[in-house]
Amino acid sequence: MYKFFKYSLPIGIAGIVLNLILYATNLYYELVIPIFENSGIEGAAFKFFDDLVFYSPFIYAGLFAAYLVAGQLYLKKHHLRKEEKVTEKLIEENAEIQKVLDEKAEFLRHDYYTNCPKCGAVREENKNVCSFCGASLIIDGSEDKKE
Ligand SMILES: [Zn+2]
Repeated sequence: MYKFFKYSLPIGIAGIVLNLILYATNLYYELVIPIFENSGIEGAAFKFFDDLVFYSPFIYAGLFAAYLVAGQLYLKKHHLRKEEKVTEKLIEENAEIQKVLDEKAEFLRHDYYTNCPKCGAVREENKNVCSFCGASLIIDGSEDKKE
């Protein structure tokens, strides 16, 4: 569907202009009507084809206009959907960044023992629990102190 409407603006305009020129100059009529004149069709049937051929470029121009309008509506919707997806992705990424920042902020709110108060192991960098025994390395009250 996207491919069908991708170039609807230039094709639509070209189609309208071309057919309006054919209509205004009577070029299409003069080119096509001899076929019916030579076919032996007469009377009411000929009158019908005569009118049809005369107004055909006008009808085609209308079809190109409809194609153009439908195409622009479709492309606008398509574009909006794309923008929505980009926005959703940005919101998701932002939430991930926020989560990391929140964790970092929470981490920085406390002071930490350099050695585990339970087993004495040296605290690994950026850890809030002992890597060996799992005991909390947060110094009690450090949070209140910082606030
Ligand atoms: Zn420990």
